[in-house]
Amino acid sequence: MGTDYSRGLRLAGAAAEADVLTLRETLSSTRVHLTANPEIPGVLKALPVLVADLRRLPYQLSLDPLGGTTPVPDEVLAGLQSLVDGIDPDLPLRLSPAPAGCLHIHLGTQPPSGAALSGVSDGHGVRIRHAGHPFPRLTAPGSGLGAVLTAASLTAEVFKLTVGLRTGTYATTPVVDFCPVTLGTEPGAMISSVPEITNTALVGAGAIGTGIILILELLGMTGQLTVVEPEPFEPPNVTTYSIGTLDDAAALIHKTGLARRHLPHMDVNAFPYTAQDFINAIDNGTERWPSTVLGAVHSIEARHEIQRIHADLTLDGSTGGGAGTTLALHEALPHGPCMRCYYPLPPTPTALSAEQRLHALTGLPLHRIARGDAPLAPADLEGLSIEQQSALSPYLGAPVCGLSNVMGLTDNAADDFQPSAAFVAQQAACLVVGAMIARSTGLVAGPMRHVEYDARFGPWYDMTTLRRPRSGCACQSEADVIAAVRTQRRRPL
Ligand SMILES: [Zn+2]
Repeated sequence: MGTDYSRGLRLAGAAAEADVLTLRETLSSTRVHLTANPEIPGVLKALPVLVADLRRLPYQLSLDPLGGTTPVPDEVLAGLQSLVDGIDPDLPLRLSPAPAGCLHIHLGTQPPSGAALSGVSDGHGVRIRHAGHPFPRLTAPGSGLGAVLTAASLTAEVFKLTVGLRTGTYATTPVVDFCPVTLGTEPGAMISSVPEITNTALVGAGAIGTGIILILELLGMTGQLTVVEPEPFEPPNVTTYSIGTLDDAAALIHKTGLARRHLPHMDVNAFPYTAQDFINAIDNGTERWPSTVLGAVHSIEARHEIQRIHADLTLDGSTGGGAGTTLALHEALPHGPCMRCYYPLPPTPTALSAEQRLHALTGLPLHRIARGDAPLAPADLEGLSIEQQSALSPYLGAPVCGLSNVMGLTDNAADDFQPSAAFVAQQAACLVVGAMIARSTGLVAGPMRHVEYDARFGPWYDMTTLRRPRSGCACQSEADVIAAVRTQRRRPL
């Protein structure tokens, strides 16, 4: 069974307005080469994440263990090889000097000549420099959070430089400094020790949830975490999640089991059922009511559902947008702003008819979709975008009424069509864990923050909004009920 790159390629295809087959050929012939300064604290944490993130796209990958100021140790190389093998044994990591025509990425502050860009973690944050822009002196050792952010940011840069994005749909900033805890431009300025996690639930162990788990693992986090997730790990997840291998997918290992394996220093309470089951269990007294909920779900209904846990603090990560490259953090409180303040309208996929969703996805006019028995003809594709045409062209000759099913727009299959890439989900995960550190240490107090940016542009100065409760939201009109539910759930088990 080959590795399934379809979701990452769909994301790239949507971003670059190119068809998926051409993109696959482009990426497969693109050489990405890595070097590192392993002596810099945090670099050896970021290196495996970077290698795995790049391997989740079908590039030709090479690494020169002697390319930095000191060699990458043999045991690290062995770990990298087995990591790559777990994602795609047919696309190895070659150990070699820089091949001709490669895009050379360096992890560390002293890039060899030829490196197009470099990145390094500074405390919980990241610093990225394009060639010719030196690094300042680092202020703190790179943490596990900084490592994941550095790897995800460098992968985003590689993505931008290689998939052929149209001018104006992305930005390459030669100097990026970003801290996901303070949301400021001074990484390393604040690196208090991260406290033990207490009374916290992670709802969702998908693309963002596994990103959160990987960060907690690399932070060496201790404490207790409940992981709420009903699904097993499946083959398409190998290239879009932050943990899990082809063997795990073949064995259909449960996602809560993956969480447990990656958090050996934590007491992981696996809850292999839905968020609603979790709420019922809290009210039945069989599960403890969490004070903090880390939300990593992918629908508006699910966000409203995690709000109904009515935890003291909800930190919700999301990805989306037309290309799947937009990512966000929503900080929410039971008395507002709540997740329903952020997502007041229910224009959820299920609120739209299959015809409306087909129209939104393909651009086919609704009056054409209404003639469902007439087979899709080349004339129907005229005037549509390249991406819409490439999505539709496999179905020429098929009756239009069946498209919703085969294109995965019915409720059961909706998830299969989502474009998704680990490097985008990881940046959302970094915002969630950054917010958890900020709020649990008191580094950040005050109004709830809404952060949103597009991975094609990177974090920018105007990405944070301070939110107030929305008047008319249920958190305001039903404040008494919510307070009563919280009092009820507060009783000891
Ligand atoms: Zn609200």
